[in-house]
Amino acid sequence: MTAKVLIVEDEAPLAEMLRYNLEAAGFVVASSATGEEAEILVAEEQPDLVILDWMLPAVSGIELCRRIRAKPETKSIPVLMLTARGEESDRIRGLSTGADDYVVKPFSVPELMARVKAILRRAAPDRMADVLSVSGIDLDRAAHTVMRGPREVRLGPTEFRLLEFLMESPGRVLTRGQLLDGVWGRDAFVDERTVDVHIGRLRKSLIRGNESDPIRTVRGTGYVFGERQLA
Ligand code: CA
Repeated sequence: MTAKVLIVEDEAPLAEMLRYNLEAAGFVVASSATGEEAEILVAEEQPDLVILDWMLPAVSGIELCRRIRAKPETKSIPVLMLTARGEESDRIRGLSTGADDYVVKPFSVPELMARVKAILRRAAPDRMADVLSVSGIDLDRAAHTVMRGPREVRLGPTEFRLLEFLMESPGRVLTRGQLLDGVWGRDAFVDERTVDVHIGRLRKSLIRGNESDPIRTVRGTGYVFGERQLA
């Protein structure tokens, strides 16, 4: 089953970019540029997640979030807020209004996708694809197994989460910071070199004999999973 995401954003290029990336990740996407229209769409479409811009003309993101939370039929729909940098008190206000999480503009696509998937994994686990398949490797989130062709790859819990995170953004360069954030959590007190250590362990488990290395190191930046390179 596919999760439905509603984007509420009045900046058309940003809304388009979000739509493109969410659809590429397999989500069904609806969008709206105004809070008034979005309020109707939320009630009618019952999306699995609302990505809500803070700054909207007329009805603001914060007001719309309040209205979503006030109605019994929409109050449990997760909301991911987009905020501008530096609005620390606003961000706290956003979360106290009932947003589930927030992302600060300008954000990177992998960061946003990680947040979207984290929220949906909690709120609507049955709407997330159980099996990720990239470059001949199959990761089953439900069964917690990894197969490379006919061979089962045994991984520790951190390597499993790391592989899952990498496989969710195939072909994209993920920085050590993004990997730390996505796998260990943004508050974790972990050194960036820890990422390299766990990537090393993951590679060791994934590669047998003359099998190819599905993880590519991007010097000075981070790692890419899969052969295909996206812009
Ligand atoms: Ca805006």
